[in-house]
Amino acid sequence: MSTTNNFEFQALPYSYDDLEPFIDELTLEIHYGKHHKAYFDNFLNAIKGTKMESMNINEIFRNISKYPMAVRNNSGGYFNHTFYWENMKAHEGGVPTGKLSEAISKSFTSFEEFKKQFSDAGKTRFGSGWAWLSLDNKGKLFICSTPNQDNPLMDIAEKKGIPLLTMDVWEHAYYLKYQNKRPDYIDAFWNIVNWEVVAERYEHAMKAFGL
Ligand code: MN
Repeated sequence: MSTTNNFEFQALPYSYDDLEPFIDELTLEIHYGKHHKAYFDNFLNAIKGTKMESMNINEIFRNISKYPMAVRNNSGGYFNHTFYWENMKAHEGGVPTGKLSEAISKSFTSFEEFKKQFSDAGKTRFGSGWAWLSLDNKGKLFICSTPNQDNPLMDIAEKKGIPLLTMDVWEHAYYLKYQNKRPDYIDAFWNIVNWEVVAERYEHAMKAFGL
């Protein structure tokens, strides 16, 4: 008998109204409780009775091209949302510090330029998808966007790396409050980034690449 104890639907790290006014309570409640939960349930269904049940999510992503589209879409939908919740926080206007701050300035010339490039990645992603800041295996930061529920850990990604920060640009992430104004949601996002979490991810990613 196999189990799926390997995978968990984690609690949100804050309350539904904690990201107000940048992300409204109803959007967060539906996004987490309905959209994210559906990806999680459909992911478990898609891997039921397969060896993926005993694999970790990174192994699944590294081999994603071998699996059915339902696994690709729902494993990404499950992981990407958990990652997104974790890199947000109820606070206003934080900035990166320490080694992460230095790496951002080195790669993008300045924090403002980084914000612009990351925002543009989200604004120009046609249809539904995600914007990412990631670390490549040479220790260089890069920005990209992915369609649907893909991510930079997947073997099908145009450029692969370890993700550090993500932003959901599916309409369900912002439509109730911002309607068609995706750029307004993206501007608001910078007020609620949890830079402590991004800095921890950066340190872990450097270690994972032996850098
Ligand atoms: Mn979403």
